[in-house]
Amino acid sequence: MFVVFVNFFIVLTFAGRQLAAQQTNSQRYSGSEYFLRAYEAQTVKIGITLDKKKESRFLEKALEFTVQQINGQNQGVHFKPYFIYIDTEDVLEASRTVCKSIADGVTIQFLPEDTAVATDFQTACDRLDLPCMDISLRDSSFPASTIFSIEPDVHIVGSAVVDVMRHFGYNRSAAILDGSAGITQLDPVIVQGRSHNISVTIFYRNEESTYRTLLFHLRSLGFRTFVVAIDQTNIGLFVQNVAELNMHDNLYTYIFSDMDIWLSDLNQISHIGINLLAFSPLDVTNHVNPMKMSQMVNYAAARGVTIDSAAHNAEIVPVQAAVLHDSLHLIAKALESFRPLPREFYSPVSCSAASRWPFGSSIMNYLNTVGLDGLTGTITMQPSGRYQHTLRLLKLERNGLSDIGVWNSKTGLNIADRNPAKPFKTTAGTEDDPLRVVSILQAPFLMLKDESKAPPYGEITEKDVHGFLISLLNRVSRLIASEGKGFKYKLYLVPDREFGLRDKTGNWSGMVKEILEDRADLAVGPFTLTAQRESVISFTKPFMTAGIGILYQAPRGSAPNLFALMRSLSVNLWFASLVATAAIGVSLWIIGRFSPLEWSNEHFCTGFATTWAVNVFNLRNSLWFAMCSLMMQGCDINPRAVSTRLLGGVWWFYTMFLSAHFIAKLASVLTVEKMSVPFSSVDELVKHQEIRYGMLNHGSTFEFFQDSKIPIYKEMFEKMNASFPSVFVDSYDEGVKRVASEKYAFLMESTEIEYRVQRNCDVTQIGGTLNTIQYGIGTPKNSPWTEQISMAILYLIENSTIAELREQWWKRGSVCVKDEKSTGPSAINSTLVGGAFLILAGGLVIAMIMVVVEFVWNALHNAKIDKASLWTELVLELRHALRFTASSTRPVLQKQCRTCGVETHSLAAAQMHEHKDYTPMLFLDAATRHSHTGKH
Ligand code: GLU
Repeated sequence: MFVVFVNFFIVLTFAGRQLAAQQTNSQRYSGSEYFLRAYEAQTVKIGITLDKKKESRFLEKALEFTVQQINGQNQGVHFKPYFIYIDTEDVLEASRTVCKSIADGVTIQFLPEDTAVATDFQTACDRLDLPCMDISLRDSSFPASTIFSIEPDVHIVGSAVVDVMRHFGYNRSAAILDGSAGITQLDPVIVQGRSHNISVTIFYRNEESTYRTLLFHLRSLGFRTFVVAIDQTNIGLFVQNVAELNMHDNLYTYIFSDMDIWLSDLNQISHIGINLLAFSPLDVTNHVNPMKMSQMVNYAAARGVTIDSAAHNAEIVPVQAAVLHDSLHLIAKALESFRPLPREFYSPVSCSAASRWPFGSSIMNYLNTVGLDGLTGTITMQPSGRYQHTLRLLKLERNGLSDIGVWNSKTGLNIADRNPAKPFKTTAGTEDDPLRVVSILQAPFLMLKDESKAPPYGEITEKDVHGFLISLLNRVSRLIASEGKGFKYKLYLVPDREFGLRDKTGNWSGMVKEILEDRADLAVGPFTLTAQRESVISFTKPFMTAGIGILYQAPRGSAPNLFALMRSLSVNLWFASLVATAAIGVSLWIIGRFSPLEWSNEHFCTGFATTWAVNVFNLRNSLWFAMCSLMMQGCDINPRAVSTRLLGGVWWFYTMFLSAHFIAKLASVLTVEKMSVPFSSVDELVKHQEIRYGMLNHGSTFEFFQDSKIPIYKEMFEKMNASFPSVFVDSYDEGVKRVASEKYAFLMESTEIEYRVQRNCDVTQIGGTLNTIQYGIGTPKNSPWTEQISMAILYLIENSTIAELREQWWKRGSVCVKDEKSTGPSAINSTLVGGAFLILAGGLVIAMIMVVVEFVWNALHNAKIDKASLWTELVLELRHALRFTASSTRPVLQKQCRTCGVETHSLAAAQMHEHKDYTPMLFLDAATRHSHTGKH
């Protein structure tokens, strides 16, 4: 690691020196310093000046996030954020800021919110030809040629407000302000209103009065329409006062000019039915923008910065942050046209210099030709600025703000009639005019008979599909027919393949949308009854009950591994035991040599028990003793002295515990491992950092987590929402595949879990269900079929038909019998035995090698003594060893003692001297042998 680091540093320094050598200017840097400066020089600094006093830290994070996004896209342009915090009251300091940031190499600026300071910036940008981006709502964009703004100005917002008033016929209204500062915002409304005969009178809430007293006063003056231009943080209080004064019925309308209305907490009063309208430039009609915004929110939250918003809406950011995001992306696009950016692009300009930055006007020209699908909708630029501004008209409904129309600066206001009343066709259900039944493919509810075919779009004939739903529909139809009026139906698959979810703007997807847009008479599927759905469509009586459960990988032992046996002890313990055995062996040998009791007189060689004593604990025997004890096997040698016995005793004590531990662990390897799953409930799942979890992105499970008030589910949803790559899936098939292939838990309905686990042995349900849900058949509101089908369903439940169908479709083709006894452990057992065999075989091979070594070593030794050739010794020893039928006695193998019995002891010598009767030699340790040979 250290070597790699040193090498890296050397390379860096060397590369830096090479670059330094090429410097043309007189200033000299060290190698690594130059390297860093060279890198710095390649980045375009984006400056933002923020007010010290205001809590504008979210904007800081929004800039960091966007810069990271752009740099990550690797478009060849590398941005670096630059922040300056100023006290706007300190006029001198504020006016110096622009020059300071320019001197620091900032070439592209975001104008500060404070108009006075922004004017200083604008003047400097204009003089030095540096591009400036404006992200604040102003009276009008600065006229300078270097100011770039995609934010609608107060005139645009004024036009939108006036168009809404004209549309709804509000001719007389009161405008409410916090103080005189907001007058610039309302000026265009007054001016433009006047040209359409709309009178707008301005009222301030002064320091002594409250919104309540002001509203009370305005009510007494007969005002029914109010244009509210108050601070965003006061909106909650304002609507609360409206409710207190009972000024929320249909008589009153409130049009809010603040475009950050998404950030106001209106939940408390949404149920009272207040007629509240507002505008927002944010486009949340697709899935992408809320996702991008929540990524920005999460980025900031991870760095301890939250939006100063009462609504806690993780998918919406302040308009300024969204405009900043889009502006910077546009700049990046414009700079792409410059690639590669010329060297002078990075050379700083200075406020005192007479020369201008040579790129400002060109960048502005490029900017006026680029476009983007941004957080503030589709942006197309033209030389005079943004081609058109689009504002979403929002209305507060029972379940929050909903998008009821679009205002466009070119085309005006367009309010969609989203739920037009539809007359019911009385003929529907006949052969000529069959009921349109929309459904979704999901086994075992509805499946293609030929599964190899790609799922079709649109209409599908009954002969191509089968499943629980077809059986149910036919039974229901037959039952209704028996009472006089059956129905014919035509089946088609929902085009977006979604069950149905309501987005932020109040629009529905999937089967709900098909019913709402009058393309379906019945929505049949595992279609969950929810309050939100019930508020726009009807449901029949439920035909099945389920709950949200967790699908995860089925617990399985680790892949068959012959070395599973080794896992019974940790590597450290194995190693420690090995070292301890060797240490005890050596200690015993040393202690044994010192202890007189271990030396005993022996009759050996010629049978004279004279001065010779034998110590049985030589090194080899000592090691053997330690080894036998470790294996809990008996040993034919035992210590005699107190010291050696003490050592032996403590060693036995240790081995007793070690083997107990080994046996216990072995048992757990055999059993527990098979059973283990990383979590057993949703609470445990949440705590797991490495297991991701998700669900279908368009169903009631999503809605359940999204709307949950229970802290743990809320936390789960936030985590899922912030996950990248996304943990939401388009279909159950995709979810189940992810479960089998990665550390991913899938939240799905128990009916489906039950079906899947019987067919896919790799997955299983963990824990119970989190809630109870019911499936019904969806119908348009007031459909004549709702009642009749409900009756049929109740009848089919009572006579157990539905239970039979369930049994039939769920159990049919089930392959996965989860029998704990028949699987796992036995497999692990055999694997472990295999491991033990492997150790046995290994030992055998090593023993063979050792015997060859011993054999050759002995022959070499003897050859030296006998002055015979190694080859002769080997042949003789081999011949003797191979004589299996001969007596088990033989001549001594090694020459040990000149005085003992025979003079020559090696086989070669023995044969040379034709000695026939030999007695085996006692086993002596090397020291003894030496003393023998020394004395005799
Ligand atoms: N049954 C659900 C619905 O009706 C779809 C499945 C899910 O969300 O897990 O939306």
